[in-house]
Amino acid sequence: MNPLPPGGVIGILGGGQLGRMLSIAAAQLGFDVAIYTDEPDSPAARVSARTFVGNYLDAAALADFARRVDVVTTEFENVPAQTAEALIAAGARVAPNPNALAIAQDRFDEKSYFASAGIATPPFRAVASQADLDAALAEIGAPAILKTRRLGYDGRGQIRIGAAADAAGAYEKLGAPGILEGFCAFEREVSIIAARGWDGAIAFYDLNENEHAGGILSRTTLPARVGAGVERAAQDAARRVLEAFGYVGVLTIEFFVMPDGTLAANEMAPRVHNSGHWTIEGALTSQFEQHIRAIAGWPLGPTTRVAGVEMLNLIGENADEWRRFAADPDARIHLYGKRDARAGRKMGHVTKLKF
Ligand code: AMP
Repeated sequence: MNPLPPGGVIGILGGGQLGRMLSIAAAQLGFDVAIYTDEPDSPAARVSARTFVGNYLDAAALADFARRVDVVTTEFENVPAQTAEALIAAGARVAPNPNALAIAQDRFDEKSYFASAGIATPPFRAVASQADLDAALAEIGAPAILKTRRLGYDGRGQIRIGAAADAAGAYEKLGAPGILEGFCAFEREVSIIAARGWDGAIAFYDLNENEHAGGILSRTTLPARVGAGVERAAQDAARRVLEAFGYVGVLTIEFFVMPDGTLAANEMAPRVHNSGHWTIEGALTSQFEQHIRAIAGWPLGPTTRVAGVEMLNLIGENADEWRRFAADPDARIHLYGKRDARAGRKMGHVTKLKF
């Protein structure tokens, strides 16, 4: 495609912090951003040229949005399939590919997809009843984790099953179709942020090492403490996924690094990712700018990392520490403008670079 010239309008589905940071990056390249969200007063809306507040299933409102933008992207993967269909029917160019969104919405489809692409995963089985759960547990063994197939994120919708006896009643408690995964006694967690342009060019950022607390990312550090073989394996997996989907934009894959140095893919996010926030200061091109470049048909930017990195998430009331971080010359602070600091809510992040 011809590159979208400055002055073009980028449409973003979703109004959260990822949309906010994408919007800021797009503005820096001379684009206007229009946000489509079902949430009034969203973090992204407050930094964007235009906002459309509407339902994700309102085909007429989506068609109106489609006519006012040059390309549409998303900042969350749980976009209903009908939303992408309505936008495409109205003539919008949508990136990334809605197929990638659809697969990433369902943990079972996602892991099946990885397996079919030759990418190792934790052992997993689909579970649609207590009997399925009992059978899956007999095959996979305990400990294991029961997760909802859909609409789970940041550790929500998960039940840890320590021993077979704990499984009684677990399916009812989950309350939705699920996936049982063998518990991986991993050495560490890593993620790769990759991008593919309209021209097929692919770029990788250095591997992120991630720590979670309560299922939510709390800290990302680079360089990750892994060998070159692990990094190459993560790149290889990302390349396969990007090429199979003809993907355009930034994509993230999260992995467990096992004690024998092999990787098991946990999930993919067809979007920019929390573990890549450090790229704003720590790489020559941020993941947000990279995504906008890709979907606008611009050449990808260099991903070179300029320093050692520590990124800390400010979750819930941790954001109250903004004064301390504001006074720390080593801390680059980002606050997302969320009105209230509910427990478990991502309120901001801090990046520290070590030269
Ligand atoms: P998820 O919502 O699938 O990203 O899971 C959130 C976090 O829970 C992961 O980052 C891991 O720390 C942990 N977790 C999820 N699945 C597994 C698994 N199969 N084995 C071990 N830990 C897991």
